[in-house]
Amino acid sequence: MSGEGDAPQAIRKLKPGRLVIASHNPGKVREIEALLAPYGVEPVSAAALDLPEPEETGTTFVMNAELKARAAADLSGLPALADDSGLCVAALGGDPGIFSARWAGEAKDFGLAMRLIEDNLARTPDAPRDAHFVCALALAWPDGHIEWFEGRVDGTLVWPPRGDQGFGYDPMFLPVDGSETFGEMDPDAKHAISHRAEAFRQMVAAVF
Ligand code: IMP
Repeated sequence: MSGEGDAPQAIRKLKPGRLVIASHNPGKVREIEALLAPYGVEPVSAAALDLPEPEETGTTFVMNAELKARAAADLSGLPALADDSGLCVAALGGDPGIFSARWAGEAKDFGLAMRLIEDNLARTPDAPRDAHFVCALALAWPDGHIEWFEGRVDGTLVWPPRGDQGFGYDPMFLPVDGSETFGEMDPDAKHAISHRAEAFRQMVAAVF
């Protein structure tokens, strides 16, 4: 996808050189660095450049990814990559969605966040338990150009949560046609089908 209006635009290629990873989450930076390792970019984290963390004021995953990438590109004068992700529950009107991290509170208690989802679902008997994860990636250049990509994986929610692999809402999420939750799956198996992997596949195919 290109961020320059409706007319089809050639997708801009990312040249070898420094690329800011616009995240202050060391786990996320490590994961993104590993995914980019084969492509000749030199990743540098926003924290290493002392860049401030912008407030996530967007109303969609793409908007939040875009504002993080744009802020980092503008301040550093380098291309910058940001992601934004979360879990959307159909019967809850897409919540927690862009607020997925915030539902876990300051303590980042995802046991509590999963319980909150379950309690909300229980208010509507027979509510469908369909849910999907989304990952938006935005790649911004200092001259204002931007590209974005979005990956999605569909599934249903189980209760009680199962498995201690992964993070966040993984133990509650059973992917379509799967028998193990993301929390039970081997990480490599999750990474082969996840929303994040899908968004990266799209980006790699487009910009390298
Ligand atoms: P972000 O750092 O603002 O993008 O917040 C993403 C939040 O969404 C995380 O804190 C998790 O709660 C949730 N999330 C995103 N991707 C996953 C995943 O692969 N598994 C479990 N939870 C996820």
